[in-house]
Amino acid sequence: MLPAPDTIHACPHCGHNAYRSSFLSGNTFSSRLWSDGYLQAPMLDDAVQVTRCTNCKATYWVQDAPVLERVPYGFFNKYSRTQQESRNFALSEQHALQDDPAPSRPVPPKMEHLDQRGHLEALKELALAPHKDREAYLRLRIWWAHNQPFRNALKPATPTEDAESLANLHGLLALLETSTEKGILLSAGALAALGRYGDARAILAELYAEGFSEEKKRFMQALKAEEGWLVALR
Ligand SMILES: [Zn+2]
Repeated sequence: MLPAPDTIHACPHCGHNAYRSSFLSGNTFSSRLWSDGYLQAPMLDDAVQVTRCTNCKATYWVQDAPVLERVPYGFFNKYSRTQQESRNFALSEQHALQDDPAPSRPVPPKMEHLDQRGHLEALKELALAPHKDREAYLRLRIWWAHNQPFRNALKPATPTEDAESLANLHGLLALLETSTEKGILLSAGALAALGRYGDARAILAELYAEGFSEEKKRFMQALKAEEGWLVALR
């Protein structure tokens, strides 16, 4: 993983600061890809895109939060103990390495991913300012959270039945681009989650033209068996 600078942002609602750490690239060693597109990868960066302000408690998109400052990667982690003691980089500057310029402002809290309630809240707010990519991002994460209990369960995942999850799946399906391999795989997964195995097989078959990787074969076998739609592909 290549580190990138951490960034300090201002909440677009109240101006309160938070920092985000990110990487320029990640790798997928010891990763597991699921048929709902969820990638379990300890080494892959999953930089926060949408978060909740620790001050005003509103959710916001990092893209909408102005960058106040860039700080060398790892700076915050290195000084986390000092942070707790002083909560102010100005006071901890003497501990810093010479090459590390200390941020000029007090240590802000680290941005966290939203939980499921936060995702649903952010989705509601999107109704006021529709944004296709953001909606897809949220709906995909809402789906992943719903699927989480099935990942290591012994029983196959059954078709989705509760009204909220169904509405989310239909919303997600409408947003997926079936012109890309990723979109096709996700669409097949979402259709199967709705119990529409035939439609899922039909859309997955479109990938035959590009050859069938082990992942696609495994997914197709599961869809043919109609024994659950959440499969570890690799
Ligand atoms: Zn705020």
